[in-house]
Amino acid sequence: MEETDGETATPLDDRLLDDRLLDDLEDALGAGSVLRAGRDVLDRYLEPARGRGGPAAAVLRPATTAQVCTVVRRAVLDGFRLLPQGANTGLVGASVPPTVPSGSDPRPIVVLSTERLVDPIEVFADDRVAIVPAGVRLSTLNDRLAPLGLSLPIDLGADPCLGAMVATDTGGARMLAHGDMRRRVLGVEAVLADVELTNGSGPTVIDDLTRLRKDNTGPRLTSLMVGSGGAFGVVTRVAVELARVPRESACGLLAPVDAAAALDALRILEDALGPLLSAYEVVSDTALDLAVDHIDGLRSPWGDRSPAPEVMVLVEAAGPIGTAEVLADAVAALDDAGVVDDAVLVPTDRAWHLRHSITEGLARAGTVVGFDVSVPRSELVAFRDDVRERLATTVPRAVVADFGHWADGGTHCNLVFTGGPPGDSERADARRVVFGTAVDDHHGSYSAEHGIGPHNADWWIRTTPPGDRAVLRSLRERCDPHRVLGHPALPF
Ligand SMILES: Cc1cc2nc3c(=O)[nH]c(=O)nc-3n(C[C@H](O)[C@H](O)[C@H](O)COP(=O)(O)OP(=O)(O)OC[C@H]3O[C@@H](n4cnc5c(N)ncnc54)[C@H](O)[C@@H]3O)c2cc1C
Repeated sequence: MEETDGETATPLDDRLLDDRLLDDLEDALGAGSVLRAGRDVLDRYLEPARGRGGPAAAVLRPATTAQVCTVVRRAVLDGFRLLPQGANTGLVGASVPPTVPSGSDPRPIVVLSTERLVDPIEVFADDRVAIVPAGVRLSTLNDRLAPLGLSLPIDLGADPCLGAMVATDTGGARMLAHGDMRRRVLGVEAVLADVELTNGSGPTVIDDLTRLRKDNTGPRLTSLMVGSGGAFGVVTRVAVELARVPRESACGLLAPVDAAAALDALRILEDALGPLLSAYEVVSDTALDLAVDHIDGLRSPWGDRSPAPEVMVLVEAAGPIGTAEVLADAVAALDDAGVVDDAVLVPTDRAWHLRHSITEGLARAGTVVGFDVSVPRSELVAFRDDVRERLATTVPRAVVADFGHWADGGTHCNLVFTGGPPGDSERADARRVVFGTAVDDHHGSYSAEHGIGPHNADWWIRTTPPGDRAVLRSLRERCDPHRVLGHPALPF
């Protein structure tokens, strides 16, 4: 949701920063730390994974927590806004400046990139804990941990930064086994924006870093930062609980007799595999067909079987030596129970290649309008049926190509428009139908994993109880009284 005050709003391109201020900042942060609009190429900071952002007056790249404090202090005192940014892979438009003025705030917008907040990575192998600066990429951390047989087991198709993973509460395909960031974060260090205008004191640095898993000493400020979208503070360091890399993992592809049987199979597998079950991904026949049609060399595991299974399931088990055998027995039991028409055990990399090709395949097939929703597991099939029926009449051009993390109730209800991109009204209708069906009719969420940005702000206002909104706004008022932080369209 992006509001504009029309003629009263200052055009975004005109919101520049004084050169002397930027020189001062460069003196304070060091050479190469300040990139200026009109002089430096800022494109990669303004081009998120999907879409494009509006202009930024500058990009600031602090390298230490003290430098983040300097940037925040100057933002408050000199009157510019700060948009924290990690790897810019967020999918709700919150990591890049708005394309149209948002509200009546005339302040220039500056990207605060965490890319130089990368040292030191501290690993406490015996504790299975790492304390990591905010700008470290997930892949960098996991490369560092691999020789120790450890990992941060959050698995997704992008390579985000640790601080942003806290701010967005990243989930992923193995959330079933390892949880999302909320579950893995032990503590954070974060810089608030509570700078005193009269004397320039502040900001507060929250120091809630810990290696402890058990520390029940009252409310924890770390929780406030998880899923905050950068509105409560700039996360500068993160303590995360690590997992041991499993000794063996194995995958199967299943063809349940119908979509409902995918949930029957899940129940049976949870029973048989217990904590070994590490992923359970469901892909609709439409999504699989489009991917197979558009990605060279990609094949359906079911060949030309007719009719094609309504959904395909990727099941993964991971654990000690012997896990593959346990999975093989469990999959055989599915056959005996009559819940699958077919099932094959496949090498793990082949199974995930197929699964990860879905997004790319859909993008090649047409214009994708994606919705990342969740409902209670027991309502997944009814949600799917309802949404298809409603879209068929409301947005008949939309091809529903859904897939997702069904064990967590998550589904990417992605719509593919072939024969030309959707118009604004088709997009709006599709969003209303998908979100409405999930939230109003199936006790679901309009943002299963990706968070609240300008894309979802209106639904946050629509669905968050007024009391909850008021509490969150007063917390924001304490942490960021001058509303300097985060995307201007964040609603809290
Ligand atoms: C192909 C693909 C697959 C994806 N799959 C998944 C998935 O399975 N599960 C999932 O949850 N997400 C997924 N995502 C979304 C995205 O990767 C996550 O939201 C990720 O956590 C964003 O991290 P980032 O470093 O790119 O953050 P950015 O996009 O740079 O920023 C995201 C938000 O965090 C804020 N922020 C950034 N750094 C900080 C900081 N240090 N302190 C405070 N606020 C900060 C930004 O202001 C913004 O609001 C996927 C994205 C892509 C492109």
